[in-house]
Amino acid sequence: MRFKYLFGPVPSRRLGLSLGVDLVPYKVCSYDCIYCEVGATTLKTLERKEYVPLEEVKRELEAFRSLGIEADFITFSGFGEPTLHSGLGELIQWIRERFDQPIAVLTNGSLLGDPQVRRELMGAHVVLPSLDAGTPEVFRLVNRPHPGVSFHDLVDGLKAFTREFPGEVWLEVLLVKGVNDHPRDLEALARLVEEINPTRVQLNTVVRPPAHGGAPLSPRELEELLPIFGARAEVIAPPSRRNAKEREGLREAIVETVARRPCSKEDLARVLGVNALEVAKCLGELVGEGRLETVRHGHQIFYRTRLSR
Ligand code: SF4
Repeated sequence: MRFKYLFGPVPSRRLGLSLGVDLVPYKVCSYDCIYCEVGATTLKTLERKEYVPLEEVKRELEAFRSLGIEADFITFSGFGEPTLHSGLGELIQWIRERFDQPIAVLTNGSLLGDPQVRRELMGAHVVLPSLDAGTPEVFRLVNRPHPGVSFHDLVDGLKAFTREFPGEVWLEVLLVKGVNDHPRDLEALARLVEEINPTRVQLNTVVRPPAHGGAPLSPRELEELLPIFGARAEVIAPPSRRNAKEREGLREAIVETVARRPCSKEDLARVLGVNALEVAKCLGELVGEGRLETVRHGHQIFYRTRLSR
């Protein structure tokens, strides 16, 4: 069965087996981050509205439930910023009443200054917002926000949300070499993180050099930065080079993922949190070995297992 608004369940580095719910079309976001894996923002907006029909998303979730497929989390993520959907709060409540799985929301945090958005998120179990800068200048450089997003409102929104939210807040900090990793900026960022007081701080880096400059930090460089962010900080970036065992693990994760639902190369890179080039190499091998096959849908190529027909 092919879903339009759901993807997975797919193995996620942070959330185990995660069923993704995508509430905005490609690529509606309040930011246009230099490191965005999804691609350039096509609609940079702060307008909240019903970007995709809520009733159809509910129908897909009901259909998913009837399949009896296992998932550890139901996660709002996908091709843009989920808090831009005006029905997010209603959908979270609807899921809570019908599903056993905890709910996670990946958000850039830009709308958390709005008390209505904060209220809507109260029904989630884990919220994973981002903060990549300690100053307005670096914020503009790395996240390229909508002009209506004020850095101070963003930080105040994060503080207010963390204070009010009964669940866990896992704050992601994504670092790009030469862009937001200057010691002075990191100190400013660490001070803000301290004030925001999330449950966890998760350091990440780009998986490929951004088009507008910068490069990934090595796993060792990220590890060395952990003390700046205190005891609750951890590194979530994947190792930059995979050994044979890790590569075999990635190949198997790809096969398991597409066995559940056909995926494009970009879907796989996003949901598995790995470099698109690395995914492409594995896909080439798996198709060559006859384990996977391709199918064209519209303008996109999807991969599926040969047994999944
Ligand atoms: S907030 Fe997320 S989806 Fe939006 S541009 Fe940044 S990385 Fe991409």
